[in-house]
Amino acid sequence: MLTKEEIRASYKNFDDNKILKLAQNPKGLTKEAIPVLIEEVRLRNLDTSFIEWIQLENNPLNQLEKDSIFSNIKNSKCSICKTNSDLKAYEFHSVISAVIFCDDILQHLIICEKCNKKIRWKNFFNTILLGWWSRKGFIATITALLTEFFNLFLVKRINDRILNTLIEENNGTFRQILSSENPKQQIQNFIENNNVRNLNKNEYE
Ligand SMILES: [Zn+2]
Repeated sequence: MLTKEEIRASYKNFDDNKILKLAQNPKGLTKEAIPVLIEEVRLRNLDTSFIEWIQLENNPLNQLEKDSIFSNIKNSKCSICKTNSDLKAYEFHSVISAVIFCDDILQHLIICEKCNKKIRWKNFFNTILLGWWSRKGFIATITALLTEFFNLFLVKRINDRILNTLIEENNGTFRQILSSENPKQQIQNFIENNNVRNLNKNEYE
């Protein structure tokens, strides 16, 4: 592993842009690298809000904080029907293919059970209708349908896996949310944006 001095020496060679990029996405940096990066941001008079961000991202949430996020997510309002609560994170597999084109779509949505069922049926019929029409699509369709079937028995496990990954990947953001004035509303907004991002993911343009 690199020593602090070695890290410092290599950061000195980075231009401001590269340092800012690291500061924006400091996940995965070693505990030796973090103070060196903060020092470099200060020395170069770069935007100091990055220092706060590096600290937020590298201060992992404890179980109590995670539990509070889990329960806020569960009690948020579904961003699709705007009515139901008791949300879970669901995984959806679907396939659309034509002669040489095959779109294998994997979406994670945090929604209510009713909307989950609706989307699952819609995806199922779309895949059955549109999935088979290429060699790659044929195999992808079988895989997607089988995965969908087995996932029906793993709802809780899938929910826990998706939410744990989401929290881990957005540690700094959730830290900011927890210390904000209205974490409940912020989490609601976060879920909504996350769903929109996932709904648009992999969509054929
Ligand atoms: Zn809903």
